[in-house]
Amino acid sequence: MSFPAKKDLEIQLSKLSSFHNPKNSLEQYSTDPVLAAYVINLAFQRGDIQGKNVIDLGTGTGTLSYGALYFECKELTAVEVDEDQRSVLEKNLEKFSNKKLIFGNVASISGTWDTVLCNGPFGSVVKDADLPFLEKAFSLGKVVYLIHNWKAKDFIVSYASRRCTEFSYERRTLNIPRIYGHHEKDRMNIDVLFLVGRI
Ligand code: SAH
Repeated sequence: MSFPAKKDLEIQLSKLSSFHNPKNSLEQYSTDPVLAAYVINLAFQRGDIQGKNVIDLGTGTGTLSYGALYFECKELTAVEVDEDQRSVLEKNLEKFSNKKLIFGNVASISGTWDTVLCNGPFGSVVKDADLPFLEKAFSLGKVVYLIHNWKAKDFIVSYASRRCTEFSYERRTLNIPRIYGHHEKDRMNIDVLFLVGRI
């Protein structure tokens, strides 16, 4: 494959299947193709994808996992608590063999990875649902790529400043479809914090 292929990745991501029986309580929203390709391309350019062991916490339908595999990570580990997404995830990632799918709670994961990708729950529906993700992201990896609600910026930045040797962050937009009853528009934009931290 010739690099860079960010646009190709966006196209591939737009073809992936979405959540089966989506659960608001688990804050199941896929990262949209534009933001996901941006994150993966940046990680690739920083040398954190190709040939690396990558873990994706709260993989959902496998958007970020697909990106890491597409940009030739060594091995991808995807963690998801919701068994209902098993068939979606297996289908979305079927063309890649260098993957491990773990169906379980992120809190139970241990080990060491080069790179952590993490767009988990924001803790907007179940308070503090984001905390085990933060805790794990910074303890499992050497570098972390994290997406969170922009509203939590001060908290996350303060957390990262205690855990990282260096980090940077920016405000980006996450575009999500209407899938849950409380949404009033077909699609909506959410301001998100995108943080890259080296431990
Ligand atoms: N990371 C994906 C999905 C984001 S939605 C993407 O960027 O497209 C958040 C995901 O985290 C959901 O699939 C949800 O089921 C999962 N999740 C929520 N709590 C979890 C937990 N404690 N352990 C593992 N996965 C969890």
